[in-house]
Amino acid sequence: MKKLLLPDKCSIKENGRSCVNPPEHVISVVTHQDEYMIGVCCENHKNLISGKLESLQREGKIPQGKINFVKLKAVGTDCIRSSPDDLIHL
Ligand SMILES: [Zn+2]
Repeated sequence: MKKLLLPDKCSIKENGRSCVNPPEHVISVVTHQDEYMIGVCCENHKNLISGKLESLQREGKIPQGKINFVKLKAVGTDCIRSSPDDLIHL
């Protein structure tokens, strides 16, 4: 996979507001020839984003292939906050 600068926040935007959670997964689409990095997402949005990518693939907006999530290595634990109460209700 090509090395790219990663955003420091989850790529999901909901109701016009960007998610502020730190990214925990890099999302890419793996095709026969290549691997395309799509963005990053937090744990909470992993399922949401994979559903979204499948519909983008059906519309032909992103390459067809397997949607792949790669867990980012934690850079530091003190800035990662997670609690079940923070879950976003869709
Ligand atoms: Zn998020």
